[in-house]
Amino acid sequence: MTTSHEKSSRPPVLVVLGHVDHGKSSLLDYVRKSNIVAGEAGGITQHTAAYEVVHKDSSKKDQKITFIDTPGHEAFGAQRKRGAALADIAVLVVSAEDGVKAQTKDALSAIIASNIPYIVAINKIDLPAANVERTLGTLLENEIYVEGRGGTVPFVPISAKTGEGVPELLDMVLLLAEVNQYTGEAKKLAEGIIVESHRDPKRGISATFIIREGTLDVGMAVASSGAYAPVRSILDHTGVQLKTATMCAPVTVVGWSALPSVGEIVVSFEKKKDAESYADEHRISPVAQTAASEDADMAILPIIIKADVMGSLDALRHEINKIKDDRLTIKIISADVGAIGENDIKRAGGDARTVILGFNTSIEDSTREQAERAGIEIHTETIIYKLGEWLTELMQTRRPKQMEEVVHGKAKLLRIFSKLRTKQVIGARVDDGAIGLGDTVTILRRGEPIGHGKIIELQKNRNNVKEVEQGSEFGAKIDSSVEVAVGDELSAFTHIEQ
Ligand code: GDP
Repeated sequence: MTTSHEKSSRPPVLVVLGHVDHGKSSLLDYVRKSNIVAGEAGGITQHTAAYEVVHKDSSKKDQKITFIDTPGHEAFGAQRKRGAALADIAVLVVSAEDGVKAQTKDALSAIIASNIPYIVAINKIDLPAANVERTLGTLLENEIYVEGRGGTVPFVPISAKTGEGVPELLDMVLLLAEVNQYTGEAKKLAEGIIVESHRDPKRGISATFIIREGTLDVGMAVASSGAYAPVRSILDHTGVQLKTATMCAPVTVVGWSALPSVGEIVVSFEKKKDAESYADEHRISPVAQTAASEDADMAILPIIIKADVMGSLDALRHEINKIKDDRLTIKIISADVGAIGENDIKRAGGDARTVILGFNTSIEDSTREQAERAGIEIHTETIIYKLGEWLTELMQTRRPKQMEEVVHGKAKLLRIFSKLRTKQVIGARVDDGAIGLGDTVTILRRGEPIGHGKIIELQKNRNNVKEVEQGSEFGAKIDSSVEVAVGDELSAFTHIEQ
């Protein structure tokens, strides 16, 4: 396969979240039935972990949208854990009868932690008890500022039962997609994220994944942590066999060597043996699972944020996003409202690097003790910028130390008196700073470093000294594997941890 780095636009990937019984499944079902891809004979009859629909955009062109449909938002949760982006847009379903409920808030914090745009779908408007105004009121109370009510979050009143408003919701999805311009490289080996995997008594292990970039062809091989499969066939979301599939298509491959984990990355290879080695090299241990997705050169500071209200979470996130460090990356692993409790300690998953930041919130009894035992730091503030300041300071202490060479003296080599193996007796002049006994020096020839040495004896006017300063000539014995020459520069440095 040829590789070019050209980006082309790709369909948006959607996740539907909300409180139980507010109509997530009904919405997904409705969309699945009414927006099947043209030409599909029977449409999608069975449940699939993800599916593709088409909807006409503002210029009446068919556009694809990929829906993730996994129970319990498993894949969404998993993708957040790994920091890999799966969903581009979230639809937050809120019942027009009930308004915002506990899981609506949970879903919202998950969305906020993922940093993706979302649309509120006010569902069940066909019911007599539905009250859109009141629902909007509960959104406001929870600081979800929708369009026209002091905010920018789009909302669409819908009925997942009658289908009213659903086209408008999809219009809104395409509009957001247009604004955000989702792109990816099509001409490369496919990469994706597992949304479902299971063991089938007849077919063996089957896994469904969404292709995030690249193209998958029959004949290639795929691998995920600890599992691989030759791509003998590619099934689309309706069970139809494809020869090839590309960006944002949910596809199923059977014949895996082991059960891939939901939320894990899938990569593809031309050769099966490469897939096999990838699977081998990327076995997951619970801790390595997060580590694997992290930039190898970057240390991570996992953060859990808790705040009094939803609106504060947004503000906190914003404040935290402002803090940048070249050696330490902040990773918000969860953002939620309420007091800091045992659950937050659990969320840290035993990672003692985790910091729990509370804003305008309390700490449940005994949680402090648990945190101490787990080595997890908790800090609360009532002023946002103070939290930012505290975090900035913490980052200073947590950023990995680097040894830096600080030059404190430079000398020019004037003559060479003797040489016995690596020990060389020289005469030189300090041009800058000072040279001390025991110093390590870099030897530079015509400005280029050629090696290192150590000053093992130092004399000024034939007397042993500890140090010679700028302008002074001195004699020294230098131990170096490099043979020094007249004209070389000696640059003395100290290692300082920064
Ligand atoms: P989920 O738990 O969020 O997936 O909710 P479901 O989709 O299972 O819906 C819960 C209940 O609400 C079911 O009995 C649905 O038939 C019903 N329901 C969902 N959406 C609507 C709607 O728009 N109108 C009406 N009348 N009922 C709905």
